[in-house]
Amino acid sequence: MTATISKLVWLAFALVWFALRLSPRRRARKTPVRYSGRDVREFALLGASLTGLGIVPFIYVVTHFPRFADYPFIPALSYLGIAVDLICIWVFYRTHHDLGQNWSVSLDLRERHTLVTTGVYSLVRHPMYAGFWLMALGQSLLLPNWVAGPVGLVGFGILFFGRVGREEEMMVSAFGDDYRAYMRRTARVLPWIY
Ligand code: SAH
Repeated sequence: MTATISKLVWLAFALVWFALRLSPRRRARKTPVRYSGRDVREFALLGASLTGLGIVPFIYVVTHFPRFADYPFIPALSYLGIAVDLICIWVFYRTHHDLGQNWSVSLDLRERHTLVTTGVYSLVRHPMYAGFWLMALGQSLLLPNWVAGPVGLVGFGILFFGRVGREEEMMVSAFGDDYRAYMRRTARVLPWIY
């Protein structure tokens, strides 16, 4: 394992993730929306996440900028990053499978939106966000750079903490006591903990 291979693994993983999202994205475009919470704030949160998980690490992998923030490559961290990324891909696969047509990249409620509480959604309320935390962690482990590695945790952290409360309010307004009961029996992203 070398630093270059580790960077290429990050790139390969990003491509797999992108490919995995193609068909949910196509289906989402065709599924009518009855309420949308998309506003300037949502746009900014998505921008922060895209910057941290996509743009900055991509620039680093392709151009090696910012080189000054490199630290010595540690193969064990990279292997751990691969393991985390493999779990992450599995989590994304399962969440898209379980959420089906209810998925959206932002805060939307579909015409025939149903509350999903089964599959990975029986473990935590936000398994897809758990997947993004794993993606950010994987990036930190794979890229030996103090900026391009941890920036994913910062970027996704901004989206997560800026959105999750609003999303839950939206779900309560749509599903009332069913969602409140679901909140009582599940954690947000870490089973039994948070
Ligand atoms: N926060 C969830 C879903 C992310 S996708 C997760 O991390 O897995 C975002 C969309 O999913 C939101 O617009 C919301 O309408 C929808 N959503 C969130 N939780 C849901 C659930 N339990 N059942 C159905 N739709 C849900």
